[in-house]
Formats: sequence, structure tokens, C-alpha cells
Amino acid sequence: MFVSSWLRGVARLAMSATQKPRVVFVLGSPGAGKGTQCKNIMKEFGYVHLSAGDLLREERSKPGSEYGELIEQHIRNGTIVPVEITCSLIERAMHKSGGNKFLIDGFPRNKENLEGWTKNMADRVQLEGVLFLDCPEDVSTARCLGRGAKGSGRSDDNPESLKKRFETYVKDTMPIIEHYEKLDLVHRVDSKQSPKHVFQDIKDIFQQFQ
Ligand code: UDP
Ligand code: MG
Repeated sequence: MFVSSWLRGVARLAMSATQKPRVVFVLGSPGAGKGTQCKNIMKEFGYVHLSAGDLLREERSKPGSEYGELIEQHIRNGTIVPVEITCSLIERAMHKSGGNKFLIDGFPRNKENLEGWTKNMADRVQLEGVLFLDCPEDVSTARCLGRGAKGSGRSDDNPESLKKRFETYVKDTMPIIEHYEKLDLVHRVDSKQSPKHVFQDIKDIFQQFQ
């Protein structure tokens, strides 16, 4: 009697120790709809949404930020901020949120990001999968330019920065998606459809994660 309840207690403790926070990476071209769809997923499935780009923009805007200038240069150039900065912002935001299911939007974006994540974080979380919002360049560009014209306030929603962001996406981020494809972790959605249609497809995927 006592032994069995003690054993149950031990089993429960072991369970909680092994229940790592769950992570879904959300990747896709600039303007593929990562931010929009992450908000939908957050509402419907109770994930905490952490956008690497938003975390970097927030850090950049902090008065006296040590990395503000460096971050702004990378954002305008469409190049990737050193992983130590991005990964530590993500880690801090995960802790601060107190959540246990995370959508990490727009990360990892290149080989260095992936290596930094693998070294510091991969063992501490359970990667459920990668949501890949697949959108052709013409549609993505039109969306970002539309957003820029409407006053997104982003210093990189202009034709020059967009061209570079796309180059980085094709050259650096696609290989990361291919890496996860080999591990059978990628869930691809055709994201040139309307936001409503895209979310229908996403729901089918996230229902499997529950
Ligand atoms: N960025 C980065 N590392 C990241 C995420 C973003 O360096 O892990 C920088 C990069 O310069 C990128 C910019 O932030 O072009 C904007 O990223 P965001 O994800 O906000 O853009 P999106 O792809 O959603 O349009
Ligand atoms: Mg975004």
C-alpha cells in the first residue's frame, strides 16, 4: 500500500523531470505569413509565440542596448544576427513566459543559428516539428511591400532590403529546412493561399501535436 503510493510519487516526479518544454519552429520566406499564422496558432492551441525578429527589434530599441547598432545593420541588410544574441533572447523569453509550448518564429535561419541552438538549447526542449510556410517570392515580396507601404514601421520592408532578405532565405534558410526534412520533422503548408485557408491546413497539423 505505502510502497505503491510511494512508487506512484516517484513515477510522477520522473515524469515531470522528463517533460521538457515543447517547441515548434516556424520557417518560411519574408512575408510568408509566419507572424499572422503564429497568432492564430497561439489563440487556438495555447502556444507561446516568440518571434526571433520581434525579440531582436525589441532589443535594438532598448535605450543603451549594447547590440542595438549591430542588430539594426543586420536587419537592414537582410543578414543574420550572431546566434549568441538571438539564442539568449529566445531563452530569456522562454523563461519569462512561464509557458511550456513554444512557437519559435523565424529561427533557426542559418547553419550558425542551428549550431548555436543545438549546443545550448536542443537537449533542454522537445522539438515537435517545423512548420514550413511555403510561399513563392513574388507573392511574399508583394505582401512585404504592401505591409511597408501601409506603414509597418519596419526598416526592412523596402525593395532593397527585401531583395537581400530573399537571398539570405534561399541561400541560408532553405538548407535548414532541408536538414529538418531529412529528419522527417517538416510540415509544409502552401502559404500563398488566403490566411484563412492557410490556417485550415495548419490546424490539421497541430491537431496531430496535441
Ligand atoms: N533576424 C536574425 N535572426 C533571426 C531572426 C531574424 O538575424 O533568428 C533578423 C534578420 O536580419 C531578418 C530580420 O531580423 O532579416 C527580420 O526577421 P523577421 O523574422 O522579423 O522577418 P520576416 O521573415 O518575418 O519577414
Ligand atoms: Mg515575422
